[in-house]
Formats: sequence, structure tokens, C-alpha cells
Amino acid sequence: MKVYSFLRGGIRYTDSTVPPRDSSVTAFLPGLSVIPLIQHVGSKANPVVAVGDRVGEGTLIGRGQGLGSANIHATVPGRVVRTVSWKMSEGLSNDALVIKLDGSFEKLGRHEEIFPWQGLPSFELQRIIAEYGIVEMEGSGRPVADMFYSLRSARDPVSLVVRCIFDDPWLAADYVLLRERLEAVAEGSRIAARAGRISRIVLIFSHAEKDLAQDLMDYMAKSEFPVTLVLTGTRYPQRNRRELELVLRRFARKEGIDLGTIFALGPATLAAIHDAVKLKKPILSRYVAVGGSAIKKPQVMKVRIGTRIGEIFAECGGFVDQPRRIGSGSPLLGKAVMDLDEPVIKTSFAIFAFLSGQVGGLVRSRCIGCGECRVVCPVGLDPESIYKHIDASEDRDGRAWECHGCGCCEVVCPSRLPLATSIIRSALKGH
Ligand code: SF4
Ligand code: SF4
Repeated sequence: MKVYSFLRGGIRYTDSTVPPRDSSVTAFLPGLSVIPLIQHVGSKANPVVAVGDRVGEGTLIGRGQGLGSANIHATVPGRVVRTVSWKMSEGLSNDALVIKLDGSFEKLGRHEEIFPWQGLPSFELQRIIAEYGIVEMEGSGRPVADMFYSLRSARDPVSLVVRCIFDDPWLAADYVLLRERLEAVAEGSRIAARAGRISRIVLIFSHAEKDLAQDLMDYMAKSEFPVTLVLTGTRYPQRNRRELELVLRRFARKEGIDLGTIFALGPATLAAIHDAVKLKKPILSRYVAVGGSAIKKPQVMKVRIGTRIGEIFAECGGFVDQPRRIGSGSPLLGKAVMDLDEPVIKTSFAIFAFLSGQVGGLVRSRCIGCGECRVVCPVGLDPESIYKHIDASEDRDGRAWECHGCGCCEVVCPSRLPLATSIIRSALKGH
């Protein structure tokens, strides 16, 4: 089968400190859960419980407010004992409800009731997905309900792309989830396709995982939609929206298929859609890749949302030495963790702690003109030149707005200049 790749730039990203991808372990339930009211791209959810209230596992505790915001649920039974606020790495403030574990679980360890969805109309499926606060769990945190809403004005046909591309080794949790919950991902894809009135499902896989792709194709045999498999290369950033669209358009041209509007979701989000619609369950836990050179025992863990990051590191044996950098998400673009009391949220697909050797020399030096940043930029930009314009406050002359934020230029720069960081910041400011 032909393997499709984007044409220019990119990097082969490897990291020996990511956890093994063979299986997951279940983390201990936290005695105190810290449930933030922002776990999505938009504004804070409005709390609907107060200090002193009892909550059950899955109780609605925060209601989403408008586009980008999503409902928030308690992930353990207990009592709300206090509220806390803190500044996140982007400088935004977040509030959280702290729940002390107490009482019995409605879901955990119980026989799960199945709710048939096949007869439900698309608007009802969308309502359930919104009610259970499902967001894109592979990074952005955009509510899936908003994505369905934006499809109303989309050009027909619409294709659901099931994105299983592992171009970044820190996607280990997604990979393990896919292996352990393949049937849920397959059914979640069919539910999402029905909810979004989608015409075709496209499974897009890294070619290194073609056996897993075939297994998912087998599960999709029951699908009421045509299902197509596309294999891609593993060069980073193949999974990014722009590179994904490039290879899908090439595939469609070659096969003579009209994919129309592309609507892409990853395995964790699709499994969450399955759980919301079929089991009436919000996102209570998620798969997290825990690793980095400072961690004694890197592993993929199933973690309750609200578990503090410090507790997760402790369950991995703690630190081998003082970490130099702690963050969540992929180290390429991840966010700094400012405090080990910060919790795992719906979008925390990885958390890492690096020793100074892995962080590399933090001292920035002058550009040596090696040209590496130009070689790896998949858009064909000159990151060095744009960076110089930004540094000289002449950013309007640059092409920062064309950058799509993959981070490749910064990774390869031997002078450790903050190329991608500056360019992305400038693009977001609208220069
Ligand atoms: S300039 Fe932007 S698109 Fe190009 S490599 Fe850097 S981060 Fe990626
Ligand atoms: S990679 Fe760094 S050192 Fe090399 S040309 Fe680009 S900015 Fe200069």
C-alpha cells in the first residue's frame, strides 16, 4: 500500500526516555482531587457546586459558558473541601474545586449499563457529547460540540478522519489506548460520524502501525459509512492539521475521491465519545505517558482527572535527581508545569521531567548561519530571518503568520535560539 508523506522539511523525532508502549498501569485514586474549571480552550466553566457540597462520581460541577468552554464533572465521589486558584504557564489564572474522596463509586467496579445509540438523531448525539464535556483530548482542548457546530456551514461532503499518526514518541499514551480500547475507538468513530452527518470515515495511520490499522479496519466492518485506510510516513509533524490535509488531498486526487471538508479526531477523543454516548460517562480518567530522564520508572498510566502531577511522579518511583524542566504535553511544544500540585486534566496526554543533560545547554548563543532551521521548516519559511525581524521589533516584515507552530526549527537550532517560541508568540499577537 502506498505511503503518503508531506514533501518538505520535518524531523525524525526520537526520545529514549519516553515510557514503553506495551501496556498501561492504573494509577491510585487520589485522596484529594483538584478539578480545574478550565480544561478546554475557552473561558472558565461556571461552578454549580460550592464548598461543603457532596458530589458523586461524574456529577456536573462546572457548566461551560459559550464557545470553547465545556462542562466539568467530578471524577471521584466526595465532598468539595475548598477552591484554589493559580497562574498557569501562559499567565492565565485557573480556579479548581478540591474534592476529598469519600463515599462509593457509581461507575468504578460496577457493571456498566449500555445505552443503545443507533436510533438516536444526530442532534441528540451532539447534545449528549456536549453534556458530558467531551473535548479534543490530544492537545487543543476544543469542545467537540463546537466542532460539530462549525460543520453546519461546511462544504459537503464531510469526512471524519480518525487520526492515528505517531510522529512524536510522546504520543505513547494514545498508542496504548488504541491497542487496549480498539473496539471503543471504532464505535466512537461511528457515533461521531452519525452525530456529524459525515459521509465517509478515513482511518489515517503511520505505516509503522499498519497491523493495528488493519485490526481497526476489521472492527469497522460493521460501519454504516464507507471506510478508507490511508498510510503516512512517521516524520514529525505529519499529524499537524496542515501536513495531514496535504497528504489527504494527494490521496484523494490519486484515488479520485472527494473528501470535502475534513474533520479530524484522535483515538482518546473517540473513546471518550463512545463512553459518553454508550455508557453515559464523562471523562473521568485518561491515558498519560509519564517519562523523561529524571523519572525512575517511565510508564503509561491510566490517571483520574484531578490527580496531582507530583503524585503521579511518586508512583513512577520519583526522581533520579533534581529535574531541570517539568512540563505537560510533548516536550516539543508542551507547557511548563509551575507546581507539582497542578493536576492532570482532560488534555494531559504526557507529563515529563528532564535532567539538565536532556534539556541541553540553556545558554543561547548567536546564530551561526548553519541553515538547519530552513531545512526542517515544512512551510518553507526562513525561521532565522523571521526571528531576527521579531528580535529587532520589525516583526511586521516577517512571515510569522504563516508559521503553523510545529517547533521543528527550535529543536534543531544548535545555538538554542527560541525560534518557534518567538515566531508563534508573534503570530498570535497578529503581527
Ligand atoms: S517557522 Fe514555524 S512552521 Fe517553520 S519550523 Fe519553525 S515552528 Fe515549524
Ligand atoms: S538553526 Fe539556529 S544557528 Fe542555524 S541558521 Fe537557524 S537560527 Fe541560525
